[in-house]
Amino acid sequence: MAPREISIPPGAHVLRALFLAPPGAGKGTQGPGLAEAYEVPYIATGDMLRAHVVEGTPLGLAAKSIMAEGELVGDELIIEMVLERITKPTRLTGFVLDGFPRTIAQAEAAYSWGQAVGSTFHAVLSLDVPEDELIRRVEERGKDSARADDDIATFKHRLEIYQDETRPLIEYYRERQILIEVDGTGGVDDVAARLRTAVDALDLT
Ligand code: AMP
Repeated sequence: MAPREISIPPGAHVLRALFLAPPGAGKGTQGPGLAEAYEVPYIATGDMLRAHVVEGTPLGLAAKSIMAEGELVGDELIIEMVLERITKPTRLTGFVLDGFPRTIAQAEAAYSWGQAVGSTFHAVLSLDVPEDELIRRVEERGKDSARADDDIATFKHRLEIYQDETRPLIEYYRERQILIEVDGTGGVDDVAARLRTAVDALDLT
């Protein structure tokens, strides 16, 4: 029998996932490895913003003090920056996002854009780490970190902002049935393995 022709639509089987987790939970540690495993770009809005700050672009100038204080940069600026990254020069069919969306307004914008182009997220990976463990980790990181927002007072403020602005997204994505909760405690390799198991089980169509 002749082999059956199958046609795979462009972008099918390409992962579109995002991390949803408090600061210090391991998004930046786990994100690049997961993106590499699924051969998609890793896009971290915090890294992009820090690059803008270093380059002194208008966005960087606007974001610098907001970031240093642990506040959130305005939704419009962030949405524009992310859409630009995802759509230019050509539209990405897959990605692992870290740090976006962080507010309901950003999530709504991402959803309407995804619906318009037929590529909404497959999965939202929530890394669960208790608050005392988060604080312990950031104290560790603070010792050799150049990040202006890694001191404990600013970190605690970022945690509050997370609770107020970002945590509601857990329910938002649970309702959309794409939330995957992963235990973020333990060794880096253990967490990576849990993430891989969860993502391997997804239907990426
Ligand atoms: P991160 O590296 O993800 O912890 O982000 C560092 C800082 O960048 C945050 O504390 C915010 O000030 C800013 N930032 C990153 N992503 C976003 C976002 N999606 N919305 C608003 N601000 C953001």
